[in-house]
Amino acid sequence: MIQFEIENHPDFDQHETVVFSNDEALTAIIAVHNSNLGPAVGGCRLFPYATTEDALKDVLRLSKGMTYKSALAGLPLGGGKSVIIGDPHKDKTRELLLAMGEFVDGLNGRYITAEDSGTTVEDIATIGERTRFVSGVMASDEFGGDPSPYTAYGVMVGIREAVKHRCQSDLAGIRVAIQGVGNVGRYLAELLVDAGASVKVADVNAANLARASAIPGVEVISIDEILCAEVDVFAPCAMGGVITHEMLGRIRAGIVAGAANNQLATSEMAGALLDLGILYAPDYVINAGGIIDVYYQQQGGRPQQVVEAHIEKIGTTLHSIFVASDEQRRPTCLIADEMAEEIFLGPDRKAA
Ligand code: NAD
Repeated sequence: MIQFEIENHPDFDQHETVVFSNDEALTAIIAVHNSNLGPAVGGCRLFPYATTEDALKDVLRLSKGMTYKSALAGLPLGGGKSVIIGDPHKDKTRELLLAMGEFVDGLNGRYITAEDSGTTVEDIATIGERTRFVSGVMASDEFGGDPSPYTAYGVMVGIREAVKHRCQSDLAGIRVAIQGVGNVGRYLAELLVDAGASVKVADVNAANLARASAIPGVEVISIDEILCAEVDVFAPCAMGGVITHEMLGRIRAGIVAGAANNQLATSEMAGALLDLGILYAPDYVINAGGIIDVYYQQQGGRPQQVVEAHIEKIGTTLHSIFVASDEQRRPTCLIADEMAEEIFLGPDRKAA
């Protein structure tokens, strides 16, 4: 394990710890952004980054995002993330995952890992053979598992709150376009249909699309149409960077609220959404259901009513953000960042 001095990196942003593993068994980075509120929790991403610099940039940004997410979710957790440089289809071996377990264990609990893009619940269980600092694992007890259903539940709560802020108190008859019906999107489609919404979906993956289209009442449209569908809510549940200038020229939804991380392609998009009168539910606030579930799993219990009651608070948080945004005429994501910083840095301190 090598400790790098990377204070001058543009995305360093006061990280507490960044450690590298760079040997034959494992090329990986663990970043702990802030642990004022508790141990840093965040997923382990396995991705074929072209360069170590790309991996470093990603892990620093994701790790910082987790600090803000957990703070606003009311969790006693800090923010961290890990990345393994490798192709999940070719390089994911048991040896690699065990080496990652040892790497995580070396931080003695300052970082707790979980599944992320390129890793599965089973992979985290393998990592867990070498460290107890894992969460969201497929365990033999009743607690382990995939957080996606709870992420979807939080997104549904957030969409309901945004709709309430804009027009009506429930989701009956509300038209929602879901981009991406993978783990989160398909559960979201079910929840929305159950709540009386009318749901259109699109996906590039035929199997995922077929699974979602089997939900009664769900309509499939093309991946191009989903961006400009005549709907009330656009719910990005695929990849990041979907809100671009080009996209804003086409969008017809009055609300953007979905699970995808880093939805805004650039920070200017926040002001552009505000100027267009589109209500944006900040991604890390609305998609916190998964980390809330992971927290309860880490505590050794996953009582559905308790987890759901906690996730319902996403609605209360979004309400405060929407109201402050209206009053101050400032983008919702800036309001959210300031609220999070007040929680993890204290009322008198602001992030640099
Ligand atoms: P996933 O990979 O299971 O699903 C994503 C889906 O999007 C896939 O079906 C994929 O085929 C589809 N897709 C990709 N590009 C597309 C495009 N251009 N148009 C339409 N569909 C496209 O991922 P997931 O776990 O469902 O997560 C979805 C998003 O939510 C991701 O951005 C993820 O980072 C974020 N998120 C997930 C969780 C969680 O608990 N899984 C928690 C927080 C945030």
